[in-house]
Amino acid sequence: MSRASRERESTQLADVPDLRTLFATSFWGWRLIWNESAGLVIAIGFVTVLRGVLPAALALVIRALVNTVVAQINAGVADWGALVPWLMSGFALAAVEAVARLVNTYQTLRLGDDLHLRVTTNVMEHAARLDLAFFEDPSRQDLVQRTQQNTGPRFAKLVLETQTAATSLIQAVTLLGVLAVIEPRVLWAVPPFAIPFFLFQWRLAQQRYAEEHARATKRRWTAYHTSLMTSPYSVPEVRLLDLGPLLVDRFRELMMEFRSRDRALHRRNLTGSWVAALLTLAAFWGLFAHVTLQTIAGAATVGDLAIFAGATGRLQIALEQVIRSLSGAYEQTLFVQNLREFLGVQPLVASGAVPVDDRTAASIRVENVSFAYPGSEQPVLRKVSFEIAKGETVAIVGENGAGKTTLAKLIARLYDPDVGRVLWNGVDLRELNRKALHSRIGFVLQDFGRYEGTVADNIAFGDWRRLLDARPQVEKVARTARVDRLIGELKDGYDTLIGRRFGTVNLSGGQWQQLAVARASARDASLLILDEPTSTLDARSEFELFSRFRELAAGRTTILISHRFSTIAMADRIIVMEEGEIVEMGSHDELIAASGKYAALCALHRRQLPW
Ligand code: ADP
Repeated sequence: MSRASRERESTQLADVPDLRTLFATSFWGWRLIWNESAGLVIAIGFVTVLRGVLPAALALVIRALVNTVVAQINAGVADWGALVPWLMSGFALAAVEAVARLVNTYQTLRLGDDLHLRVTTNVMEHAARLDLAFFEDPSRQDLVQRTQQNTGPRFAKLVLETQTAATSLIQAVTLLGVLAVIEPRVLWAVPPFAIPFFLFQWRLAQQRYAEEHARATKRRWTAYHTSLMTSPYSVPEVRLLDLGPLLVDRFRELMMEFRSRDRALHRRNLTGSWVAALLTLAAFWGLFAHVTLQTIAGAATVGDLAIFAGATGRLQIALEQVIRSLSGAYEQTLFVQNLREFLGVQPLVASGAVPVDDRTAASIRVENVSFAYPGSEQPVLRKVSFEIAKGETVAIVGENGAGKTTLAKLIARLYDPDVGRVLWNGVDLRELNRKALHSRIGFVLQDFGRYEGTVADNIAFGDWRRLLDARPQVEKVARTARVDRLIGELKDGYDTLIGRRFGTVNLSGGQWQQLAVARASARDASLLILDEPTSTLDARSEFELFSRFRELAAGRTTILISHRFSTIAMADRIIVMEEGEIVEMGSHDELIAASGKYAALCALHRRQLPW
């Protein structure tokens, strides 16, 4: 191994949890498994122990059978009756062993399925509790990737490996006991090979885990390249730019790196395993030769010889299995640690306790708010203060990157300010129940959702608990938002399945945005946040939104973010932002009269182009 790869490996191994964490994770994982199905775990344990003792019992029966046969040959008699009980016992034990193995497989598969369901659901539920900031942080994305990658099957594997390790351990100990009675030196022959092989496998498990742990970012890159090549949203541009060969090259390069490192690990495993297997075999065959000599000398029976031949083979397999499964269980526990880490992440934007009962328009007060995105030093908002009265419509304008969307996200409490506070009807957002607060906010975000599903779903999602099964109300919302005409033109109306992944129809950007506006108005909201709500609308749709805006905003406080002056004109008051600060505030006429930034922006907008 080169020095560089040795260094890389030791850095990676630093990511392997220490033994204390491992025990805690193991305890955590097994408690989850126990809580999922204690009865099944007990049943698996019972069958496991049964399977463990059966080979030794079978070996003893065969020994007795062979000894009886030899005694009859020596005595010159043929007493079939004396053999039958041993033959019957042997058959019964072999049959129980075969059935127990099948039962064990069924049990672990069943528990594996239950655990898969439980764990994946836990991950989804926990993801639903976490902050937006968590998912926007690239380093956290690695944890998400590690958690998503086979976490469910990892639990099933942990159970399987532990169960196999337990069966094999009992088998190895009982077989060793039986063999030790015939040849005690067998006890000395096992540890010198078993212990180094165990340590070797343990280390290999750490290396495999560390390798996969370090791969998370690159795995995300491969998934990204695949999605660019296959997503209906990216394929048009990928085709026109002919990015296919480049993306395939980048993908292949990463996959080849994975493959060559995996190969190195497989090779290491192969080398270590065959050395261990050969040495153990040599020791067992040496002992076998010794027992053969003893049998000839009359110090051991032929039954002993027969049992030694059969049982050493099984012992070797059982020993190898114990070691592989124990290190396998260890490896799975390391991976389970990823899940534990993910489920241990707590939302930073915690919910307060104060209910949000007032169903009228909200007043908003932003007090001296400063904010930088997590992981960034650069402040995006600096000492921002303003107030919006109940029922008022305020437009926020400014150049790209001025901080308008960020401000709206702080008001919706997707983040908390670093300094200052935002008040909702005089109460700090941090004190309010977050879910209740969100239910009082209707919004059209810049990246508005395009939900794969029916048109009705796309509107009902605005308040799904109330609207999902209430078609007349959905139709009413659609009429108010004036998207009913658009829906009427679709083949299956409200039941038309839309979207590029599952839909039968795909809508234009503007049509999706009209549905997003309808979804926002489906909520009985106290605050409406519209971030570029007309960015993809055609002139007529924009005019329609404009003409029904008063209706939509009635009884609500509204924040409008827009570059379009036709949209800004809907506002009572305008806030002008520049580089995270408020530079002007007032009505359209006041700001024009002030001849400041807003007036300049307006003039720019109105200026006739020279051609
Ligand atoms: P605007 O809406 O005025 O165009 P934004 O509020 O979207 O501006 O962005 C303000 C600044 O914050 C920009 O410099 C942008 O790069 C940065 N920014 C926006 N979103 C994030 C984010 N999720 N993480 C880090 N920086 C961000």
